[in-house]
Amino acid sequence: MAAAGGGRCVVVGGGFGGLQAVKALGKANVDVTLVDRHNYHLFQPLSYQVATGSLSPSEIAIPLRRVFRHDKGVRVLMSEVTGLDLARREVELTPPVVGAPRQTIPYDTLVVAGGSSYAYFGHDNWRSLALEVKSLDSALEVRGRILQAFEAAELETDRASRATCLTFVVIGAGPTGVEMAGQIAELANDTLPGEFRLSDPRTGRVLLVEMADRVLPGFAPSLSRRAARSLERLGVTVLVDHTVVDVRPGNVVVKSSDGSTANHATRTVVWAAGVMASPLARTLGEASGAELDRAGRVTVEPDLTLPDHPEVLAIGDMVRVRDARTGEPRVLPGLAPVAMQQGRYAGRLIKDRLEGRPTPPFHYRDKGTLATIGRERAVADISGFRLSGFVAWITWLAVHLFYLIGFENRSIVLLRWAYSFFTRGRGARLITEAVGSRSQSPSVKAM
Ligand SMILES: Cc1cc2nc3c(=O)[nH]c(=O)nc-3n(C[C@H](O)[C@H](O)[C@H](O)COP(=O)(O)OP(=O)(O)OC[C@H]3O[C@@H](n4cnc5c(N)ncnc54)[C@H](O)[C@@H]3O)c2cc1C
Repeated sequence: MAAAGGGRCVVVGGGFGGLQAVKALGKANVDVTLVDRHNYHLFQPLSYQVATGSLSPSEIAIPLRRVFRHDKGVRVLMSEVTGLDLARREVELTPPVVGAPRQTIPYDTLVVAGGSSYAYFGHDNWRSLALEVKSLDSALEVRGRILQAFEAAELETDRASRATCLTFVVIGAGPTGVEMAGQIAELANDTLPGEFRLSDPRTGRVLLVEMADRVLPGFAPSLSRRAARSLERLGVTVLVDHTVVDVRPGNVVVKSSDGSTANHATRTVVWAAGVMASPLARTLGEASGAELDRAGRVTVEPDLTLPDHPEVLAIGDMVRVRDARTGEPRVLPGLAPVAMQQGRYAGRLIKDRLEGRPTPPFHYRDKGTLATIGRERAVADISGFRLSGFVAWITWLAVHLFYLIGFENRSIVLLRWAYSFFTRGRGARLITEAVGSRSQSPSVKAM
């Protein structure tokens, strides 16, 4: 078994878990290197608002260098981690210049917080047709596709083709799917009417497809019912007990629980179903012998370390944790508070070790779950108190503002929300060449 502890700590991933781990270590006598493939921390819970034109990317992301500008013991590196050598205690990075030798950083303690990505259930060919909103790039591309669909409808003279342009299919009715469907419906019904001359955005259809028998399957059934009612009031067609069996260019095939299938002609599909752990989880599992589950999560010990590798911790969406009492692996919800609490725990454990103190096993404190459906509509389950409607919506706003990183971002987002609330407008509706037109733009012919 490897010895744990030491003064060089490498943290992989500057998301919710990694950021908190580095923050917790900031004041300790440890040299911390934070590596992320992006130069920013992304507040994923609001990425759907970028995808629907409510917020701009810079309002929900903050450069990691800025976050740690005062922590002299923290070095930030923007690079892709391509390998983890547990025997040599090295992290392998992409070379900064093509053809240069591989770069490695040595560590005494390693914290891996690589997160997760959406899983397409073996249909990787759907990935380019049904985009997700997990990354900023993808959220911007979704925004471009949604806005372009309304533009295409205005150009279209054939009624059926115009209806196709104005049909939006969201796959998966967890919080992200519900939020996306609600926001597209609000865009069509509240923001855009009056801006088009030939087409009427209000005639559009938003379909929300869910395999389970209710929306928000992770919430209490009463909250699912209230969320479904709110969605229907917004004009969303909720298809629970329905499975997407094919996604083709211009068409989504949906199968209902009675076995019948229906084709829905559409040019805009958003994917919000199923997650898969970061490939770094597999790397850790293969290197240490730790078990992986079907979603690719690596199983860590009750103190979040890898079996026989107390110097390696893994946290957040990419892990399941062995229960200290029963020894059974437990999947915690894929939520930011879980990753944040684990990040803080990892920082504390490393500090405790340096100071020779024992640390009790990690314990997740469930503070509740929230999902918003649209303006003044949300559901919340906070320590058994089930809220819906305006009160839940205000709670949702307050919680998200509180957890957003950076005073500047909080202030701007608050102003944006106030503007949207009073005007029903959306300030970030530009279709840029870089993303919006990439997938659908025709070439220009000389005439
Ligand atoms: C659209 C969406 C909406 C959500 N809404 C909510 C919500 O409302 N409430 C809530 O609590 N949770 C929500 N979640 C879930 C929450 O965002 C995650 O649970 C949380 O981000 C997990 O934190 P993490 O640190 O494990 O991973 P992440 O926050 O995803 O961070 C992983 C980091 O690792 C980096 N990384 C990964 N691999 C590498 C590599 N090989 N090299 C370098 N860097 C790498 C990534 O760039 C990223 O910065 C939402 C998620 C999504 C996608």
